[in-house]
Amino acid sequence: MINTFCFRCRIPGTPLFSSGRYGIAQCPICGQAFTSPRADDAELQKFYGNRRETFQSLGSMLWASPRLDLVQHWAGGNRLLDVGCDRGDFLAAAIWRGFRAIGIDVSERNVTECLKKGLPAISGTIESQRFLPGNFDAVTFWDVLEHVPDPATALTEANRILAPEGVLATSCPDFDSWGRKTFGGNWSHLHPNQHLWHFTGETLGKLFVECGFRPAYFTKDPLSLSNFGRVDHMVLISIKTKEASWLN
Ligand SMILES: [Zn+2]
Repeated sequence: MINTFCFRCRIPGTPLFSSGRYGIAQCPICGQAFTSPRADDAELQKFYGNRRETFQSLGSMLWASPRLDLVQHWAGGNRLLDVGCDRGDFLAAAIWRGFRAIGIDVSERNVTECLKKGLPAISGTIESQRFLPGNFDAVTFWDVLEHVPDPATALTEANRILAPEGVLATSCPDFDSWGRKTFGGNWSHLHPNQHLWHFTGETLGKLFVECGFRPAYFTKDPLSLSNFGRVDHMVLISIKTKEASWLN
């Protein structure tokens, strides 16, 4: 177990509540919530290496089409990168729809599954791959940002590899939801063993703006098709407006 800092302000958080052996803290400056203490990197690695169930699973079959409608509405082209592609459900739907799509995932097991299905996938992270600048019209992070070690770096890289006006599409649990406020450390979407960051619409929107995007679409309605049946989750579509200045 390790104690961690806010990825934005680089300072320890104020404890909010605990969940088993994990703690949930909040940055006193920017309000970003995060898991601290959390599993160390070796433990996380073990989790991703052995994972048998999928994050996207059956649900992604249901959400893929309306989410692709959103991407298609905002994107100027059909080159798509699905970050954290899991076993390729969304990737398959995107290719079926006519996107020139590829997936990337930290799990070798997931990449092997995708390749077996004939889906183009590579192992690694968005930062490790060093794609060409402006190479994609859309980058998707479906239920992924809460897992990445440094969301600002990942989004800065997404900005770099997106074409001007490219689309950034994301979804994640909503830390500001009724369920979280009611159940605290027992909230079913907290997953403190895997979720390093806990976003609200506000903290995520702020991060996107800092990384060079403008918000275009937002829903947390479980009746909207792109978020259908997902209580306590949100879907956000943002557009690249300028180069990210986060690391400069
Ligand atoms: Zn902060």
